[in-house]
Amino acid sequence: MYDVVALGESLIDFTPSGRNELGMPLFSQNPGGAPANVLAMHAKLGGRTAFIGKVGQDDFGLFLQCSMEQAGIDCSGLRKDAHVPTTLAFVHLDEKGDRSFTFYRDPGADLRLRQEEVPEALLTCCRMFHFGSVSLTGEPCRSTTIWAAQQAKKAGALISYDPNYRPFLWEREETAKTVILDALPLVDLLKVSEEEMVLLTGKTDLEQGAAQLLAMGPAAVFVTRGEEGVYFQTPAGSGRVAAFDVQAVDTTGAGDAFLGALLAQIQGRGREALSAMTLSQWQLAARIANAAGGLTTTSKGAIPAMPSAEELREYVQRGTLR
Ligand code: ADP
Repeated sequence: MYDVVALGESLIDFTPSGRNELGMPLFSQNPGGAPANVLAMHAKLGGRTAFIGKVGQDDFGLFLQCSMEQAGIDCSGLRKDAHVPTTLAFVHLDEKGDRSFTFYRDPGADLRLRQEEVPEALLTCCRMFHFGSVSLTGEPCRSTTIWAAQQAKKAGALISYDPNYRPFLWEREETAKTVILDALPLVDLLKVSEEEMVLLTGKTDLEQGAAQLLAMGPAAVFVTRGEEGVYFQTPAGSGRVAAFDVQAVDTTGAGDAFLGALLAQIQGRGREALSAMTLSQWQLAARIANAAGGLTTTSKGAIPAMPSAEELREYVQRGTLR
């Protein structure tokens, strides 16, 4: 039994890395893609994880496979496209460390995943199944993602969802909203950023926005708020937990580390696992997840910046809150 199986995009994040001797910008090649990042954090904390997705049959695809395997992620569900290259994303950072993206994905191998390429055993043998909305931006991957979540749910898995809205990947904001929200009836645990909550609900008030999202299907919703920490509503109640006081350098992967660590605090299988947790367990889980997210902002890249289980445990004890 796997703890978390995730389906979605695996791509290269090229992050800014200074300038060469001629003054030209340099980029570092980092493994990226939110679902794989969530798995990487979860695997670092001792979880058994597997990835389902597609890369190109090229050096970038091989690099992604090696990186995931090195992170302890089972890649038996990773497919390679002989005709379409691995998707690339260039990350641009502003002076506060906030990101914007340029995607090279038209076409990109990640979107070419077909239903018949997904090993069904991975869907029926997991405690939790995770997906996002980058794999919902086009066919055939959109139908494959929804089908896979349905199969996993039928088999009793808890369904986790982080839309990770990327405007550049959608032709129209309205389409994005509709497609993202259409997935909610399948979802047990939802993580959104505050900006995504506002976009999806039209509400700026956390209580109202989260309640509106919960009414569409999920049993628990976590609204992450960068340096402000997180607000959540769960079956046991709601709460706010402050972020840790870190020196942020690059926020890439913070939300994914947050979610990977949050999922690691959930025992059992299926939606019932959420009802079984007390409010104080959720508060501790949110604190640990905040520490994982915060620590991931303190160096460049996503997976390479994620803390080890020991670093995280120690930081949850001694770190100071904002
Ligand atoms: P996303 O990456 O999905 O946009 P956030 O930026 O909200 O998500 O980050 C996820 C979590 O990571 C936050 O809830 C917080 O705990 C932590 N985090 C992110 N940025 C910072 C920061 N500048 N200082 C402290 N913690 C942060």
